[in-house]
Amino acid sequence: MTSRKISRREAIATGLAGAGAAAALGACGNGPGGTAEPTPASGASQSGRGVRAVVVGAGAFGGWTALELLRRGAQVTLVDAWGPGNSRASSGGETRVIRATYGPDRIYSEMVVRALARWKEAGERWGDRLFFETGALWMSDGVDPYATDAVPILADLGVPFEELTGEELGRRFPQIDPEGIAYTLYEKSAGYLLARRGCQRVLEGFLAEGGEYRQAMASPGAMAGGALGDVRLASGETLEADIFVFAGGPWLAELFPGFDPPLVSPTRQEILYFGTPPGRPDLTDAELPVWVETGESLFYGVPGSNFRGFKVADDARGAPFDPTDGDRTPSPEAIATARNYMERRFPAMRGAPLIEARVCQYEQSADGHLIVDTHPEASNAWIAGGGSGHGYKLGPALGEMVAAQALGEREKEPFFELGRLAG
Ligand SMILES: Cc1cc2nc3c(=O)[nH]c(=O)nc-3n(C[C@H](O)[C@H](O)[C@H](O)COP(=O)(O)OP(=O)(O)OC[C@H]3O[C@@H](n4cnc5c(N)ncnc54)[C@H](O)[C@@H]3O)c2cc1C
Repeated sequence: MTSRKISRREAIATGLAGAGAAAALGACGNGPGGTAEPTPASGASQSGRGVRAVVVGAGAFGGWTALELLRRGAQVTLVDAWGPGNSRASSGGETRVIRATYGPDRIYSEMVVRALARWKEAGERWGDRLFFETGALWMSDGVDPYATDAVPILADLGVPFEELTGEELGRRFPQIDPEGIAYTLYEKSAGYLLARRGCQRVLEGFLAEGGEYRQAMASPGAMAGGALGDVRLASGETLEADIFVFAGGPWLAELFPGFDPPLVSPTRQEILYFGTPPGRPDLTDAELPVWVETGESLFYGVPGSNFRGFKVADDARGAPFDPTDGDRTPSPEAIATARNYMERRFPAMRGAPLIEARVCQYEQSADGHLIVDTHPEASNAWIAGGGSGHGYKLGPALGEMVAAQALGEREKEPFFELGRLAG
């Protein structure tokens, strides 16, 4: 694969940036084709001045990290083999749920509060709506500790919510059959994000603020004396830098194969979109929140984003999956499982046609938590990944965290360090 630098002007011209990009970039204060002036982010330090950084991976993690490094004054090159939010990436596809309900793990709830503010701010800055506030229903057949443990944290963080009985759920949302639901945590300021579009917008913002983007396959160069000197592109070119961030999502295990357990294990996940009957806003995001149901299995869905249909997915970890060459043909079994669930819980969806389907992969860390740490042999090579089926929403907060840690502004966060995974 060859590598080449893509300018902001070219990104707009080729449509990489998507419809409306020129207007969005203009909204940042730079007319299309004009000279990109760095736009300081509110509150960001300039600790990166004089620092050269290379970020590998333009998904939710790498894109936001690159932008945050840039906003701290670093000179940043972002590299991706197939592009931001590409169809192989874990950040690809239409939508991702954002909710602050995270069981007892306050660290994530805090990150979500921060990330949500940044997603909203980004949408305003770039003139594009990336977040849709539908609320989120966390439904369970009993008292689900993942929800109830989060209640005091949500209250403390000022996240609005209500606790509903099954009966109340059925009254408030008559499109849901509440049979078997005993408890629902209704997180009102939650919703969904536009996934691949969000990654593309981040790249556009990054280019507009003076970042450099290469579309190329990259691999770490040699580590010596406790540091990494460069990354190598498939073209043979090398990119030298002071700090490196590897945000390769499900490819992290290939980028760094020496870890035990592996940094991440990609699993096959299927996302199904069913067509709602016409004239039923109660089955779209106009009237139905995003929802999650826990119990013997965990299903979740996003109703009708961008007219794409009623999204239903089974959260159970699927078979091991190769993110590069894995077969992404949807399976009849997954379609049947999703349909059975959906028709029971949303009776008006009985017989609804399947209108789209995607096969994606979770990049599962050994304990399901993020990995944000330096490589054991190179203190300037950061690994950011392990989103494990829940990482997308965190992108802006994670980007701030990685940038601040890599530039020495902030200590590492033990909860996300690699040491916790060592046998
Ligand atoms: C089906 C599904 C549903 C999900 N639902 C949710 C949800 O509702 N809410 C939520 O918050 N999260 C959710 N997630 C999780 C979330 O989407 C991921 O954790 C997150 O997007 C991971 O982002 P990333 O940047 O780490 O990885 P990716 O998006 O995979 O980005 C990695 C990038 O690195 C590039 N790359 C890899 N190797 C190289 C290389 N050697 N050289 C150059 N480039 C390279 C790839 O092309 C890719 O673009 C879901 C994930 C899936 C798959």
